Amino acid sequence: SNDKKNILVTGCAGFIGSNFVPYFLEKYDNYNIVNLDLLTYAGDLDNLKEIGNHPRYKFIKGDICNRKLVEFIFDEYDIKGVIHFAAESHVDNSIKNPGVFVETNVNGTFTLLDVAYKHWMKSPFVFKVKYEGCRFHHISTDEVYGSLGDDSNDLFTEETPYAPNSPYSASKAASDMIVRSYVKTYGMNCVITNCSNNYGPKQHDEKLIPTIIRKALAGEPVPIYGDGKNIRDWLYVLDHCKGIDLVYHKGKSGETYNIGGRNERTNLQIAYTICKRLDEIYPVKDNPSISDPRSTIQNYKDLLVFVEDRAGHDRRYAIDATKIESELGWRADENFDTGIIKTIDWYLEKYIDQRD
Ligand code: NAD
Repeated sequence: SNDKKNILVTGCAGFIGSNFVPYFLEKYDNYNIVNLDLLTYAGDLDNLKEIGNHPRYKFIKGDICNRKLVEFIFDEYDIKGVIHFAAESHVDNSIKNPGVFVETNVNGTFTLLDVAYKHWMKSPFVFKVKYEGCRFHHISTDEVYGSLGDDSNDLFTEETPYAPNSPYSASKAASDMIVRSYVKTYGMNCVITNCSNNYGPKQHDEKLIPTIIRKALAGEPVPIYGDGKNIRDWLYVLDHCKGIDLVYHKGKSGETYNIGGRNERTNLQIAYTICKRLDEIYPVKDNPSISDPRSTIQNYKDLLVFVEDRAGHDRRYAIDATKIESELGWRADENFDTGIIKTIDWYLEKYIDQRD
């Protein structure tokens, strides 16, 4: 309808987008969301079933690299803002199959940006005012900054030089740079957020936390890369969504904002936390997948096995979130100890349901 602003949000069938959409629809009533998602192996419309046939939400299945389709969407819906989540997002896949990362993350971002630019900025003067405030928000990762050493005072700031090490992070770094260039060269209204590792409901099975839970429940060996001491800075997905909301509405054009929960954990600590919780609420002896009397598995942590490290595995990521905290008043609401329990319980239900 006419009094609403139409915004294009890409990749909402994935983990973060599907947490973002219900939050955003609930918080604001002046936006219509158009979700463009290719439904790759990583996208699942079930992630969005809670919003049902929401009157201010529309799904379009398609590729962000398809320029004709993206142009059609901008014209048809007169798109006034973009929040761009769609990406190939799994580092291990990028090692096996880097080409699709360059295609989706680099070319796809370029296509969206260039179509938005032409739609908003190249319009005739009389229409210019109609496009004032149109903003492109690019969602990115802290992995673009490379790896930190173990010194806990060392943190990624917005000034940290880019030094991506995997094809995934390199493709995200490249997309960040293209967005930057549209601000510097064409004066386009863009913001970038670089966030640390997210956790929470709806993450794909392939990622660290769901993998640990899924394999443990199935009584399968739980693989831990290298010595398990790689450090990630974990943020509850809804806190990321709240940060995006703030930056989209209040961030300064051309600026980058790091988002992170000051929440460093080694992969091994994550695995132990999960195993301990599973021991409490679904002990091995009650789990029909493992409760073989001859089994040597007493506790879930007995399933952990160290496997050969991921190639080019970054040692440590950690975010200095001072800028978004002090300039925009963002802070993480979820405490890790409670957030991780909520998350484990959510996957426990999912994987037990799938088995029944
Ligand atoms: P995800 O893999 O769960 O979801 C990606 C979504 O994009 C899927 O629904 C998929 O179908 C869609 N998609 C993929 N290729 C597409 C294409 N060519 N055209 C249209 N849609 C396509 O990813 P996620 O974890 O939700 O991450 C979302 C964004 O946030 C990504 O840009 C990622 O780089 C970034 N990010 C993720 C994390 C994290 O911890 N998950 C942290 C920081 C930044």
